[in-house]
Amino acid sequence: MRVGTGFDLHRLGAERPLKLAGVEIPGSPGLIAHSDGDVVFHALADAVLGAAGWTHDIGTLFPDDDPEWEGADSSQLLLRVLALVGAEWSIVNADCTVLCEAPKLSPHRDAMRASLAGVLGIAGTAMGLKFTTMEGLGPIGRGEAIACQAVVLLEPGEELQ
Ligand code: MG
Repeated sequence: MRVGTGFDLHRLGAERPLKLAGVEIPGSPGLIAHSDGDVVFHALADAVLGAAGWTHDIGTLFPDDDPEWEGADSSQLLLRVLALVGAEWSIVNADCTVLCEAPKLSPHRDAMRASLAGVLGIAGTAMGLKFTTMEGLGPIGRGEAIACQAVVLLEPGEELQ
């Protein structure tokens, strides 16, 4: 088994809807990024790459000057990463913590969890998702950014067994 972690943060203020885990969250500007800025998918993609032992991270795999990923739905980045490692590894479980001061994410928990489990191809019970604020401290606490940390456990897929 192999474990990997990922972390991502984007600044708030884009003139598009806020999307986290592929779910549109009303009541906030969007995240500023070359793609749609979905920090949950970005953190998970890096966790998968780390667990699989890739030297690349999503910043090198999907450069922010590549027109293919401009405004991209970030689930597509994660699906691309899963396609890269999927022949050798399959996901046992994943767990994410989203660091967000506002808006309140708990009303969207079920939709976000189902979205993540769907993209990762795992059962909802294998997908952890927690939300926390920064108690008003720092850039996240001031509502200037949203971040996510992720951990993923992989087991050898059919080709490695
Ligand atoms: Mg990112």
